[in-house]
Amino acid sequence: MSIPQLIITEFVPLAALTSWRIGGTARYLATVRSPAGVAEAIAFADARMLPVWILGGGSNMLISDDGLPGVVIRMRDMHVDIKQNADTAEVHIGAGAPMAGTVRQLVNAGWSGMAWAEGLPGTVGGAVYGNAGCYGGAMADTVQSIDLWRAGCLDTVLPATLGFGYRTSALKRHAVPQLVHGMHVGDILPIVVGATIRLTSADPVQLATELAETAVLRKGKTPQGSSCGSVFKNPAGDSAGRLIEAAGLKGYAVGSAVIAERHANYIINRGGATSADVRALVSHIRAAVAAHSGVTLEPEVQILGEEWPFNA
Ligand SMILES: Cc1cc2nc3c(=O)[nH]c(=O)nc-3n(C[C@H](O)[C@H](O)[C@H](O)COP(=O)(O)OP(=O)(O)OC[C@H]3O[C@@H](n4cnc5c(N)ncnc54)[C@H](O)[C@@H]3O)c2cc1C
Repeated sequence: MSIPQLIITEFVPLAALTSWRIGGTARYLATVRSPAGVAEAIAFADARMLPVWILGGGSNMLISDDGLPGVVIRMRDMHVDIKQNADTAEVHIGAGAPMAGTVRQLVNAGWSGMAWAEGLPGTVGGAVYGNAGCYGGAMADTVQSIDLWRAGCLDTVLPATLGFGYRTSALKRHAVPQLVHGMHVGDILPIVVGATIRLTSADPVQLATELAETAVLRKGKTPQGSSCGSVFKNPAGDSAGRLIEAAGLKGYAVGSAVIAERHANYIINRGGATSADVRALVSHIRAAVAAHSGVTLEPEVQILGEEWPFNA
């Protein structure tokens, strides 16, 4: 039985689809499993003059308590195609593939080059969008090419064209909810639908050790509870966590959103936190850190359905 490439459901609570467990309801949730599904979902929104948002794994976003009054396209193309050529492989991965699970699959098959991403939450598409990185690796240095859906067409581009920077890309810098209807097709922002990665074969035992070491490092640094990972980018030459801790903010809470004791750049939802709680806490942290150290922190996490209460 074939799996439908697009499923549209109405009035879908989004909190459970995010790692923060925060956010209201999507008017429509379009679950897509292929680029063709993306095109159909865009056409669906266009016909109803509704804005579009893209949802990957929901591990780096804060969704408004009021929800998203349009079409949320949830990327679920999770294919992983490995083309082996002697001791290298070209791997084509769907944008909805989970980073952590895909990395483990490739490492278990003896392929080296992605072990840095062991345990990284979210999807391949979300990782490209924000140039996710950790433990010596980053998406910008890992992908060979990126497949984009833009202006109604599929396009394959080189990483150099995506303006990658520290936890950012041209896609992220220009992010706006996309009102497709009436827009010039060239103005519709690209959607990542897949990526190709080149890997080399390596000793499986050594790879497994590398993976296990990364897992231990990550576990040691990650606070328990629902979060979006690091809320702020690290300023050049410093760490946002250190600055927040130095401002005496560990444990500080607004409503049910609290700054983690283990890692001050994490905000934990200790149960029932709202988007308003998190926005107020983010504002407080920025003001307190600026007053204490003169540094203005910039959020890493994306906000959907509203804006940060400051000029980010
Ligand atoms: C516990 C924890 C630890 C973390 N550790 C790290 C870490 O070590 N390093 C790191 O870099 N990040 C880390 N993060 C943050 C997060 O994992 C990454 O930012 C991840 O790449 C986000 O992917 P996602 O699929 O969940 O994106 P989402 O949260 O779903 O989306 C984030 C943004 O990307 C856009 N987007 C998503 N998919 C696409 C697409 N296919 N095309 C176009 N736009 C898209 C969304 O619209 C949104 O604006 C952590 C998060 C958690 C919860």
